[in-house]
Amino acid sequence: MKIICIGRNYADHISELENEKPKEPVIFLKPDTSILLKKQPFFIPDFSEDVHYEVEVLVKIKKVGKHIQEKFAHKYYDEIGLGIDFTARDLQQKLKEKGLPWEKAKAFDGAAVVGEKWLPKDSIADINMLNFRLEKNGETVQKGNTGLMLWKIDELIAYVSQFFTLKIGDIIFTGTPAGVGKVSVEDKLTGFIEEDQIFSIQTK
Ligand code: ZN
Repeated sequence: MKIICIGRNYADHISELENEKPKEPVIFLKPDTSILLKKQPFFIPDFSEDVHYEVEVLVKIKKVGKHIQEKFAHKYYDEIGLGIDFTARDLQQKLKEKGLPWEKAKAFDGAAVVGEKWLPKDSIADINMLNFRLEKNGETVQKGNTGLMLWKIDELIAYVSQFFTLKIGDIIFTGTPAGVGKVSVEDKLTGFIEEDQIFSIQTK
């Protein structure tokens, strides 16, 4: 399986990192080895002094597809989740400045938290009106709503499937809202969609 991540999908996060608003979605991949193993803590890698959390809504692909039209995109997923796109921000900044790929900063072991709980799409009234949030040590640090995405889930599926065949079990990370920040050892990060707790992890 593969993880396809969308960058710069919320206007408020673009301005917090002083990035340009893109004309097309920014896409990068994480390998399956980046998934944080169940019940394991997240070990902050020693090659970074500034690892950030980015809470993101996840979409699990359930059907093989390529060149999917937006109007058919809803047939390719029936579960919505939540996760963290951990980012070594200092390293990413250096790579960006040199115009180099971001993988070292985003695709390292443990950099993809995939919440264990998935919500059936049928149980959600409006997928483009979902509230989600991240708590750090019990305090809300990021808050988002899928209505604020520059590209909605179905548009993202149509877009990414022009480049990559989507396969069963692939996961799309749909981008992070404002409020990204640094993790320290012994932080507890808990993610919610509406009032459902989707994951809870510990940093080491
Ligand atoms: Zn992200």
